[in-house]
Amino acid sequence: MSIPDRPFASYHLWSLVAPATGQERWHCQMRRGFVKARQHEPQVKALLGKATAPQRIGILAQKGVYEFHHHRHLLKQSDGVDQVAQILQLSHTDHEVQQRVRQILQKYHNAPLLLNKNILQLTPGDEGFPKPILIDQDDYCFRLYAAMDCVFIDSDRTLHILDFKTGKAAFDQRQALVYLLAARYLYPGHEAVASFYNLELCKKSELIRINHHELASLEFELAHIAQRHQQDLQKYHQETEDFSKIFPPNPGSHCRFCPFRSICDFADLKQPQAHSMPILRVNGG
Ligand code: SF4
Repeated sequence: MSIPDRPFASYHLWSLVAPATGQERWHCQMRRGFVKARQHEPQVKALLGKATAPQRIGILAQKGVYEFHHHRHLLKQSDGVDQVAQILQLSHTDHEVQQRVRQILQKYHNAPLLLNKNILQLTPGDEGFPKPILIDQDDYCFRLYAAMDCVFIDSDRTLHILDFKTGKAAFDQRQALVYLLAARYLYPGHEAVASFYNLELCKKSELIRINHHELASLEFELAHIAQRHQQDLQKYHQETEDFSKIFPPNPGSHCRFCPFRSICDFADLKQPQAHSMPILRVNGG
């Protein structure tokens, strides 16, 4: 099994290395081990390939927005929602997914956030890994992956990176920061802002900006995360039996929501107390 030849970073890796604020007690490094070190093992691969209902809703919602703007006349037609539902083959999905995605499509059809925006990029959400950005400085070198849902130009000519969300999870500002760093390389010379939009709640986040100094610190922090993860991968590939030392488990009631609970030797599957239920994160990008 090969180790990536150059360190890499992404929001996803950052979220596996360090918890979001408020999620500390449920954070488990072993999940990172399964996702990023053992992902090619058949059992792990099978578990990673199973999209949960919230993940399917996130992907279909994003694809729905993409289809509305790809066939823009559908935003004006009274049967636009039905037509996009057909393109998405919603009738082949289970009841919960079908219902929630249909509601999302209806809400978007009623108030299309991107209508009349100067869209530079809008992705269908199922296109896999984005092309990496090579960040090569004197002290570090790593590949940055940042899959942006949508990029448009605001009326004041600011570059706006928008990330679509579904479900109830709080926005994680770190994702926006990674996009802003990527924008510095992909759209050099542009003033950029990032924001989130929850398609189910029709809720916008505040605009997130970052200055040059903060961008430099962020880049350094991501280089450190990339380096640390690369070292962990090397250690694991040298001595696979040390998996639980390199990626220590943090078992607890949250294991019930972990995709690896069926293969994890440390899973604690006791009935969780009502107050200790973690918030399920969806559509993490
Ligand atoms: S089942 Fe629990 S201990 Fe095992 S990887 Fe998942 S969260 Fe960590």
